[in-house]
Amino acid sequence: MFPPVMPVYARADVRFERGEGVWLWDDQGRRYLDFVAGIGVTAFGHAHPRLVASLTEQAKKLWHVSNLYTVPGQERLGKKLVDNSFADTVFFTNSGVEAWECGVKTVRKHFHAKGQPQKNRIIVIQGAFHGRTLGAISAAKSEKMVTGFGPLLDGFDQVAFGNLNEMRAAITAETAAINLEPVIGEGGIKPWSVELLQQVRKICDEFGLLLFLDEIQCGLGRTGKLWAYEYADIKPDVMCVAKAIGNGFPLGACLATADAASGMVAGVHGSTYGGNPLAMAVGETAIDMLVEPGFLGHVQKIGAALDRAAQALVERHPTVFVEQRGIGLMRGIKCAPSIVAADFVKALLADGLCTVGGGENVVRLLPPLIIEDEHIKHAMEIFDRVATKFAAKSAA
Ligand SMILES: *Cc1c(COP(=O)(O)O)cnc(C)c1O
Repeated sequence: MFPPVMPVYARADVRFERGEGVWLWDDQGRRYLDFVAGIGVTAFGHAHPRLVASLTEQAKKLWHVSNLYTVPGQERLGKKLVDNSFADTVFFTNSGVEAWECGVKTVRKHFHAKGQPQKNRIIVIQGAFHGRTLGAISAAKSEKMVTGFGPLLDGFDQVAFGNLNEMRAAITAETAAINLEPVIGEGGIKPWSVELLQQVRKICDEFGLLLFLDEIQCGLGRTGKLWAYEYADIKPDVMCVAKAIGNGFPLGACLATADAASGMVAGVHGSTYGGNPLAMAVGETAIDMLVEPGFLGHVQKIGAALDRAAQALVERHPTVFVEQRGIGLMRGIKCAPSIVAADFVKALLADGLCTVGGGENVVRLLPPLIIEDEHIKHAMEIFDRVATKFAAKSAA
């Protein structure tokens, strides 16, 4: 019999009932340390009192009126995002991929409005992930995501991660923008170097292209800066964000400069739910908490501690792990070829630690940004136990 929930996820057989801070409890009363945070979403952990209060207070007042009307929360959160980023203007969505799609539309409309409608192609990166709409799978083109879903959308030209010669060679008179994740997330936690990001910005300036960043996973404090692009001291023209901005309440945003958004005028884009009062209430509080003095300093410090701990872990188990990499609290531990990262993730979960796999046989760690040293220690003890088992298995 076909299940009532479409079986498109390879789900773990665990049913969580309750969460508090960095901990989760399942329906058997078992406790788990959450080092995945709903895939980089619950930056402030579960049931944070300030976020719960914002959501419940708004829930008693007003849930939804649509964008037929002015939504004051949008104006406030929009201003906070603008004040704390490169951007002049924001479009609110309900998910990451919608924010990415808005970015694509903003880019194309920009050149259309400038009388250059032929400039409508976007250079994208092999191994990137931008979501699951037809547009986003047409850009990423991973076999698993596109097989059977054609025809795909035209307009995306892929180049290899980190290869600027290939990037330059791919630029034509039709190229409008370069789109990349400053730190590749789903693809296995791969940061672009500061030098390469600066070069990509230069290439955009040289050829009159827009730089369109996807900071859905790496943005909003995950790397220890509010935005990952700050490490390179550059500014994008368009950027999509989501995940941590709602801390679990569905919310995304497309940020743009006034020039990049010049084609986005009344009537050309929209969403029924996008930016509804509930989402805005949570988003406002989440941004306030992220930019509170000292908070990002905590992420940098605890991120460095996780880096050291993961490095030591890899060195303790050379037959199990190949390397570890990442920035801040966005970390990937690459398993040896004899080990399947998904099996390792399963074994960690059975021992009470939530993680998630990524591309290139990587176990991703995306813990809540509020973790402390004791949580890293706890996580590494579980990693050690599981790694010792896997080492024994592969030696046998
Ligand atoms: C998660 C993610 C998306 C898609 O977000 P959804 O909310 O699942 O649509 C897009 N880009 C990146 C980099 C992501 O990590």
